Amino acid sequence: MSNPNPAPSEGRRSPQARSAEVLRVERVTPHLIRVVLGGPGLAGFPAGQYADHYIKMLFPRPGVAYPEPFDIARIRAEFPRSEQPVVRTYTVRRWDAETGELTVDVVYHGAEGVAGPWAYAVQPGAVVHFMGPGGAYAPDPAAAWHLFAGDESALPAIAASLEMLPPGAHAYAFVEVADPAEEQALKSAGAVTLTWLHRTGRVGDALMAALRDFTFPDGDGDAFVHGEAGFVKEARRLLLVERAMPRERVSISGYWRLGQDEDGWQSTKRDFNQQMEAEHGL
Ligand SMILES: Cc1cc2nc3c(=O)[nH]c(=O)nc-3n(C[C@H](O)[C@H](O)[C@H](O)COP(=O)(O)OP(=O)(O)OC[C@H]3O[C@@H](n4cnc5c(N)ncnc54)[C@H](O)[C@@H]3O)c2cc1C
Repeated sequence: MSNPNPAPSEGRRSPQARSAEVLRVERVTPHLIRVVLGGPGLAGFPAGQYADHYIKMLFPRPGVAYPEPFDIARIRAEFPRSEQPVVRTYTVRRWDAETGELTVDVVYHGAEGVAGPWAYAVQPGAVVHFMGPGGAYAPDPAAAWHLFAGDESALPAIAASLEMLPPGAHAYAFVEVADPAEEQALKSAGAVTLTWLHRTGRVGDALMAALRDFTFPDGDGDAFVHGEAGFVKEARRLLLVERAMPRERVSISGYWRLGQDEDGWQSTKRDFNQQMEAEHGL
């Protein structure tokens, strides 16, 4: 399962933030904003192993000036919690070690929030600080088939996963987006059956309907299912309890929670997961 929090050893020993510059901003679709980062701060960025690599972006609190150079350990030691940077998690959509460019695809989900509005307004030249990368999932080349399911927040990781599939690998991808304008071209060497689902009611409803109708192929598959936490909980029951997929073959977690911002979700996630596991009996 993908672990969106850095390992304690990584985080506590000497948390080092990287600094990068916004090189380009592109509208992939009306609500998906691609931000390409670069600069010397990305030298040696250790991504590539996982399809779900993520970074923890650090956004300054309005009205708070941090000492230069940006030193997150010092900020955490010296600033009250209410003045510390706001943390938001984003998938590494692409890391190009040759050009030194790191791409994140940010969902613009309206004027609410920190990262979405930031991406909407950001211009080339802006400086970004972040921690990471973390990551845990890569498609198992030995799997008989792969299942991917998620909403827009998981689309960058699903897209990166499809790009990582070996030639001919059988994959079934279900992506729920608001409407047809949010669909985008995805690349893969695999034999991918990609189904775009358009939101009907609550986020994840269309995904659940599609997953319930999905005929699981024979053989040992693996699954990557992420997105809104309420949907993820239902999908987890379907995959692990009803379809009895082995736990270790399923990467599944809530990337965000309806009605909560990321701070709220991250602070309640452990309890949410414990309760979910108790309800599912595993
Ligand atoms: C490992 C990991 C990887 C992720 N990768 C990506 C990624 O590549 N791209 C991406 O866009 N997101 C990604 N997310 C999700 C992202 O971190 C959250 O959506 C985050 O809450 C967005 O921050 P914000 O400041 O825009 O909104 P917040 O301030 O956190 O939230 C404000 C309000 O918006 C709602 N909200 C948050 N996200 C969404 C959404 N996607 N759609 C509709 N409403 C929303 C909240 O429930 C809240 O009511 C990832 C999360 C994790 C844990």
